[in-house]
Amino acid sequence: MFQKPPFIIAIDGPTASGKGTLASKIAQALGFEYMDTGALYRGVAKTALDQGLDPAQEKEAVQAAHLLHKNYDLSLQNDPTIRTERVSKGASEVAAVQEVRDILFMLQQDFSTHPCAGVVMEGRDIGTVICPNADVKLFIDASSEVRAQRRFKQLKDKKIPADYEDILKQLHIRDGRDSGRSIAPTRPAEDAVILNTSTMTAQEVLERSLEIIRRKRL
Ligand code: C5P
Repeated sequence: MFQKPPFIIAIDGPTASGKGTLASKIAQALGFEYMDTGALYRGVAKTALDQGLDPAQEKEAVQAAHLLHKNYDLSLQNDPTIRTERVSKGASEVAAVQEVRDILFMLQQDFSTHPCAGVVMEGRDIGTVICPNADVKLFIDASSEVRAQRRFKQLKDKKIPADYEDILKQLHIRDGRDSGRSIAPTRPAEDAVILNTSTMTAQEVLERSLEIIRRKRL
């Protein structure tokens, strides 16, 4: 039915930048399919923890990645048990292992090439490594204070106990690990549009993004 390769929208950015919400809203607005690639790293960390393996140990992380690859299903991204602090920490540890990234690369490539009208993929290295030829590349950023504030509000709204200073501290640690690593660090692709959303509402970010996408689809 779909003759052309899918239209690819790559959305990258740091932790709690709002890229996840944005990506799923864009997918919904355009009728495209959506992949949260952070869920893959979270899935590896969760698999490791469930199996009594240590996500911080390279060999054990690779073992968990093979297990995830075998049992992977896209619905993993809707599983709330991959969103805990423990899994978040493990995810950024396994993400620094090249062999883990290689295993997950295949899953992401399959998704970006499967027959459909378009895909929205969100993560850290979509525009640079996974889909360097994406049709649209967005890099969503915001100051660490704004991101911590947004995460704090999200947790409070869900009535989950949260401490702003602690969230900010954890965010700095994850940012440092994700941007400082030598393999696929979080950074904008040279041809990405960078949106600093510190003073924008989620609706403004969505409208601006859809405008950029529409111009590319003309
Ligand atoms: O985006 P999210 O916070 O769910 O990602 C969890 C972790 O997975 C990040 O801290 C990052 O280390 C890693 N990740 C990555 N590359 C991606 C997506 C996520 O390294 N494309």
